[in-house]
Amino acid sequence: MKEAFEGFAYRNGELYCDDAPVAEICERYGTPLYIYSHAALTGRFRRLREAFSGVDATICYSVKSNSNIAVIRALAQEGAGADIVSVGELRRALSAGVDPQKIVFAGVGKTEAEIAEALDAGILAFAVESAPEAYAVGRAAEKAGKRAPITLRINPDVDAKTHRHTTTGKKGVKFGVDIDAAPRLFKELENHAHLDVCGAHIHLGSPVTTIEAYESAMDKAVALIAKLRDNGSRSLRLLNMGGGLPIVYKDETELDLNEYARVMMDGAAKVGCRLALEPGRYISGNSGILCARVLYRKETGHKTFIIVDGAMNDLIRPSFYGSWHEIRPVELREREIETVDVVGPICESGDFLAKDRSLPRMEAGETLAIFSAGAYGFVMSSNYNSRPRAAEAMTIGGEALLIRERETLDDLTRGERIPEILLDGKES
Ligand SMILES: *Cc1c(COP(=O)(O)O)cnc(C)c1O
Repeated sequence: MKEAFEGFAYRNGELYCDDAPVAEICERYGTPLYIYSHAALTGRFRRLREAFSGVDATICYSVKSNSNIAVIRALAQEGAGADIVSVGELRRALSAGVDPQKIVFAGVGKTEAEIAEALDAGILAFAVESAPEAYAVGRAAEKAGKRAPITLRINPDVDAKTHRHTTTGKKGVKFGVDIDAAPRLFKELENHAHLDVCGAHIHLGSPVTTIEAYESAMDKAVALIAKLRDNGSRSLRLLNMGGGLPIVYKDETELDLNEYARVMMDGAAKVGCRLALEPGRYISGNSGILCARVLYRKETGHKTFIIVDGAMNDLIRPSFYGSWHEIRPVELREREIETVDVVGPICESGDFLAKDRSLPRMEAGETLAIFSAGAYGFVMSSNYNSRPRAAEAMTIGGEALLIRERETLDDLTRGERIPEILLDGKES
């Protein structure tokens, strides 16, 4: 087993998540099933926290990477805050017991209602992404008789060299304010009676594979804050450097955590700011697997397809980003290796979990585990093809607990209705 897949190990040929046998968990809760390791989730968070020990850094877990309230709760118990991008995520973070003073709210399209609710909750900062949005926050604060804490999201024009769908700190993307235009806007907003312009925010994208990208973003942030101070800014005290830490899917390497922390802490120290960070994938990515059962082996002249009961609606990353996920049988035994496509039942050729993959021969009825599925897995799932969304379980020691029920077929049509005019007897 890859070292990166902590929390998961084979014992006597059987896959375990923490101390619970995966085959039994799947038997109990059915497939497709997401399983998260509490030990891995909290262990990853702790490692990050320890890299920043000695400084006042707020580690805001990026809720959008895996927003199950039990996952958020497990991390909140370790002291994690939350990076949220919607009022839905705000509700999740609050119901999981996250301290509002550790919540930062990003996103380019916050609505009036979302702003009002976050203001009422008393969050640490709005990560504002444009001038009109800053004024919307200002109006909401005025209405509530408050001053809203805001950081301005800066687009530092640093290329994180990641997938075009997930790069967010380059010129021409919808995120943040151009770094050249930022000083004027800071000045303008600092004069607003209901805005407390408390700092700057940069999130480069995901995953960011080099320390140099972070270094270069930090250099720009430090220079910007120094310049703003020269221009008379007195309220800047928070530097939110976002998330984006990479994980091992196949043969990637993780960044050296201490080196990363050093860059962050040195930069923040230079400008005397408190640090905030927004790691998502680093914490949740390798802490979860998706389990699926083989329905059929389909052998054509050219190819063998392993058709499983999990599909692109459950885990869209292979189809959407071309991502590679390790796949292994839940029970090991002697078998030949073959090259196969692992596909789901959805009516799209884009519905695959792996293509041309060398895998041990898998038979119908067997369960397989798709690794690195803890981040951007369940949260990106849908009901496409009218498939109920998967259940989620978390292991805590030797216990596997259900943390989200499988959707039912009745759930699928909940909220839908046939207008009376379309009912029988109303024909024209
Ligand atoms: C998605 C997102 C993150 C988390 O990114 P990861 O790669 O999962 O660490 C952090 N901050 C913001 C603003 C985001 O949109």
